Amino acid sequence: MSVVGRFAPSPSGRMHLGNLACSLLAWLSAKSAGGRIVLRIEDLDAERCPRVYADALEQDLAWLGLHWDEGGSTGGAHGPYYQSERAEIYLQAFEKLQAMGLVYPCFCSRSQLHAASAPHRSDGQVVYQGTCRGMSAQQVADRIAKTGRRPAMRLQVPDEVLGYTDGHLGAYSEHLPTECGDFILRRGDGVFAYQLAVVVDDAAMGVTQVVRGEDLASSTPRQLLLYRLLGLPAPEFIHLPLLLAPDGRRLSKRDGDVSLENLRARYTAGEVVGKLAFAYGLNPSCEPRTPESLLADFSWEKVPKGDICLPEGLF
Ligand code: GLU
Repeated sequence: MSVVGRFAPSPSGRMHLGNLACSLLAWLSAKSAGGRIVLRIEDLDAERCPRVYADALEQDLAWLGLHWDEGGSTGGAHGPYYQSERAEIYLQAFEKLQAMGLVYPCFCSRSQLHAASAPHRSDGQVVYQGTCRGMSAQQVADRIAKTGRRPAMRLQVPDEVLGYTDGHLGAYSEHLPTECGDFILRRGDGVFAYQLAVVVDDAAMGVTQVVRGEDLASSTPRQLLLYRLLGLPAPEFIHLPLLLAPDGRRLSKRDGDVSLENLRARYTAGEVVGKLAFAYGLNPSCEPRTPESLLADFSWEKVPKGDICLPEGLF
């Protein structure tokens, strides 16, 4: 079976080096195996992700030489490739889970969730304690009338340990009720949650290999549960170490100096790719490289497993 990888950026701003690292490694991993790359724009939150950012992102990827075979504004057989245009498709999956009796409304506000002395997941979110589970239809109607807001919808997780073997980081598992908790499938404003959308889309787009940042490793058990419940084939998951600023902080879109806007003003595409590949162990020096030139020697074994601190002065 040939590899289908993907870029799945959330364009809420200009790309930065961390996003770029995910794209470069996803591209190298799929292409070195003779595979293809799909570009899916994760603009579920359409207000935070205006189309201008998605367009800038495509230009940045193309500038870097990270070409995709299908998706984005190029289109293809599995479109639309913008999550903001796929709500009907998510609704079908959501209704399937609802019909299984696994979905329930939740009225808890963010502050209520954080006020509860609940354990936290490894991603910093609270493990939901099931406060709203088991409400009757009448109770739900009363709450809607009283609060004037629509509830979020949660999936009830089974009492089991769900694990998988990450293609780079090895074994990872979670006891779903205590380490994950019932999770949101649809927000109160009707927007479908990332966990549901990403599963539905990766399956619908024939993705066989998911390469993404280690911060999403703890989302994988939730996604594997959804694959199973929806009867969809799960891809291989490979998580790459996160890139940290030279002082050890996590890179974010606020680090303007590593945004593509600034990088493009200071370096050639080859310089950016060469330096980034060097930081990930995929270029013996920080000499300029094209993505193609990295293919022959690409191996996940060269990529470190722990967080990568950008060497001072590299960028
Ligand atoms: N859209 C997510 C992000 O940009 C990535 C989701 C994924 O790779 O599963 O962080």
